[in-house]
Amino acid sequence: MSIKHAPRNVALLNAAVITLTFLSIYGVMVLTGMQLNAGFLFLTAVILFTAAYISVYYSLNRFIYNRLKVIYKTIGKWHGTQRRQQTDNNQDDILGMVNQVVLEWHDEQQQKIDELQKMEAYRREFLGNVSHELKTPIFNIQGYILSLLDGGLKDEKINKKFLKKTAKSVDRMIAIVQDLEEISKFESGVLNLNESVFDINELTREVAEFLEVKAEKNNTEIVIKEPENRKLKVMADKVRIRQVLVNLVDNAINYGKPENGRIVISFYDFHDNILVEVSDNGIGIPEVFLPRIFERFFRVDKSRSREKGGTGLGLAIVKHIIEAHRQSITVRSKPGKGTTFSFTLKKA
Ligand code: ADP
Repeated sequence: MSIKHAPRNVALLNAAVITLTFLSIYGVMVLTGMQLNAGFLFLTAVILFTAAYISVYYSLNRFIYNRLKVIYKTIGKWHGTQRRQQTDNNQDDILGMVNQVVLEWHDEQQQKIDELQKMEAYRREFLGNVSHELKTPIFNIQGYILSLLDGGLKDEKINKKFLKKTAKSVDRMIAIVQDLEEISKFESGVLNLNESVFDINELTREVAEFLEVKAEKNNTEIVIKEPENRKLKVMADKVRIRQVLVNLVDNAINYGKPENGRIVISFYDFHDNILVEVSDNGIGIPEVFLPRIFERFFRVDKSRSREKGGTGLGLAIVKHIIEAHRQSITVRSKPGKGTTFSFTLKKA
């Protein structure tokens, strides 16, 4: 019997059983010449009731309940053993259970679809960003080379300048590709941390020294709010945390105040962690952009970032590094007043 015709066939079967039962009783009555009395009516009611009960019960079981059970068990398999156990304890309300499970299943599938659609949009945007970012240096290189081939090579005034610009564009492409490679390593979980115990106060001083010349050029001073000899031992990957600090301090210089810039690095002691804060008194970030600041290629001011040589991937890498340490990084900022990045590290 096909499922399509099941309701009509089930109804026909039940009607036939009840009618045949009634005709049989009536036939017996006529053949035996029995008189209609209260006892016979009672017996007829009992027989008809029993026949209707068995027929409806059998049909429901055979055509509806057993099929629903298969559907329910199939969803139950996907839903895990816990749900299957519930079915077994709840045989009577299979319709209610199926209804509930299907609704839950629908919500879960919808969530998965939304997630996939989001990822798809993100992937498309990311591919667009990569090609856009690489296009600029490629077109620049093409322009310089064509100019050099068109006679520029012999022109003493421009040949070296164009070659230097070509080299700068190549450097930019290399920086983008290296950063992308690093992000993809983090995302595919290939990159392992090399954790050890080190002094974060000492490492911060080393980074400040490394960026001192650049800071001075930008009229910016770097202040570390901690006595030099105070040891702050943490357990982390030193090379990676150095990378985080370089990135944050470098950004603080790039997006800092052009005159009298001040970068303050402070440490706060929490139970199991040390909180590191890098603050500047620079241009700040508008509140609407704060949730997107760690996204790949997100920049508040694209031209300023490119002019400073930024790939737009620094903060995405920083976030990956901190999260690989199972720690967190946050940002707070006020346009025109400055920005503070804070991240935690595990105390040794
Ligand atoms: P990049 O600096 O290469 O553009 P990042 O990922 O390091 O890329 O930073 C992303 C964007 O966040 C920057 O382009 C800039 O707009 C903003 N930003 C980062 N740090 C600061 C800061 N200290 N002050 C103001 N804006 C910042």
